[in-house]
Amino acid sequence: MESGTPFFAGLDLGGTFLKYAVGDAQGRIIYKNKKPSRANESQQDVFNVIFDAITDLQEQAVNNSGTLKAVSVGSPGAIDFEHGRLIGATPNISNWENADIRGKIQSRFGLPVWADNDANIMVFAESRQGAAKGCQNVIGATLGTGIGGGILIDGELYRGTCYAGAEIGHMMIVHNGLACNCGGYGCFEQYASAPAMVRHYINLLTEAKKPIPEAVSTVMIFHRAEAGEPEADQAIDITLDYLGTGFAGLVNIFNPEMIVIGGGVADAGDAFIARIKQAIEKKAMKPALQGLKVVRAVLGNDAGFVGCVSLAAEMYLKQN
Ligand SMILES: [Zn+2]
Repeated sequence: MESGTPFFAGLDLGGTFLKYAVGDAQGRIIYKNKKPSRANESQQDVFNVIFDAITDLQEQAVNNSGTLKAVSVGSPGAIDFEHGRLIGATPNISNWENADIRGKIQSRFGLPVWADNDANIMVFAESRQGAAKGCQNVIGATLGTGIGGGILIDGELYRGTCYAGAEIGHMMIVHNGLACNCGGYGCFEQYASAPAMVRHYINLLTEAKKPIPEAVSTVMIFHRAEAGEPEADQAIDITLDYLGTGFAGLVNIFNPEMIVIGGGVADAGDAFIARIKQAIEKKAMKPALQGLKVVRAVLGNDAGFVGCVSLAAEMYLKQN
């Protein structure tokens, strides 16, 4: 029987786990779980993991005196939001090329389905349930192995003409600079991501003829900077300078009220986030800086399923 509280499923598909949750129309999560995503197996195997998760969530909805009304999936790769399917392939999930996320789930469960890129979902989650709640114009960035991004304009995600937009990590900030795996040169993420900070540090140690540790990480660089090592401190400064350049460009174009920063590098803490803001203030145009907030993302690893639950609820309620 279709009755009781309407509930919404959010699934965050990653290279290791499928994290999933069910929540109400306000996006409050009532249950969450995760399963290995079987990302190196066949496309059908990955869909089977998704189907099992949705069955689990349907049962949870019934146990909470409600019904599952809609599903939303966050996935790596470029996603045709209108049709709910992958455009091409993604390196994170081996056989996910052109996966028809909406079609497969809809024909199995008869529920409305939406799918979006995981970086878009992160900024959407922060704008609905996290650090940017209530904000209309937001740039979201995840600083990690690369720089992922999402752009919220007037409260809605900006996806671009072919759903390939908002790739802030591939904004070119150095003319004919370092080659990037996207095919371009001088991309933001080649200079300001975690591996970039590590590279800056190793270059500085090499110049100073100091020994290079076996496994350099950003955590190590932050620790060594705190302990007073000048090269570590300088590597952070160089990275911050590039972050300032990239974000200042975005501030000048979009004039956001908030930049939300997540990912491993953001875990360095609030002091680091404050220094990113200072680096932006050095370079951006003054009118666009008025009231700008630069904050840490608060949803962390939950952002994917939290954003998907909110997206499913919003899209469903718009149509019903
Ligand atoms: Zn690139």
